[in-house]
Amino acid sequence: MSLIRTLAVTSLLFLSITSIVSAQKKQVIQDKEVIHKNGLTLTFINQDKNFSPVVRKRMIETFFKVYPVLNGQYNEMTAKDVTFIIDTTYKGVAATQGTIVAFSPVWFKQHPEDIDVVTHEVMHIVQNYGSEAGPWWITEGIADYVRYKYGVNNKGAKWALSNYKSGQNYDNGYRTTARFFAWLETHNYSGIVKVLDQHMRDHTYTEFRIIL
Ligand SMILES: [Zn+2]
Repeated sequence: MSLIRTLAVTSLLFLSITSIVSAQKKQVIQDKEVIHKNGLTLTFINQDKNFSPVVRKRMIETFFKVYPVLNGQYNEMTAKDVTFIIDTTYKGVAATQGTIVAFSPVWFKQHPEDIDVVTHEVMHIVQNYGSEAGPWWITEGIADYVRYKYGVNNKGAKWALSNYKSGQNYDNGYRTTARFFAWLETHNYSGIVKVLDQHMRDHTYTEFRIIL
């Protein structure tokens, strides 16, 4: 087979595989709801017919409660059009790419109170750092700090910033970094999270120069 023919066959094969995959994905969409409120649009795509309507309602309410606050506090220029997907193929807890958040239905079945996964994830949309903005632990630390500060059901989810354990470091990310940020905010560095967030978005973060 000539190279061109091989390439043609390969790309045809690739095309047919991707169209099968997207067709399968379309088939598993159980429903789609578009909600407009206060200048925001949330598109909620559900792929799991057994997904709890109660959890769904709470996720939507949390979005419309928390997202405007995070916009106001951290980034007025943030996207106003967001998509949530209850993604039956996603194996983690949740992940955000651009303005799309994928949530695991399995996680919410096992942890129905963990509604502030929404708060953490939508902060990633607000952050909008782009690539190579700075260390991952700042990104994740800020998202968990925001969850700690603005979360609607942390207590119900038994989610808290845990106490320091020896061996932990400020750059461990997530709750460990969030606890460090919370400590800084109350120990002479009030406002440091917003400063860090802005430096990350502007791609001006450095290890050695943070002007407060
Ligand atoms: Zn995250």
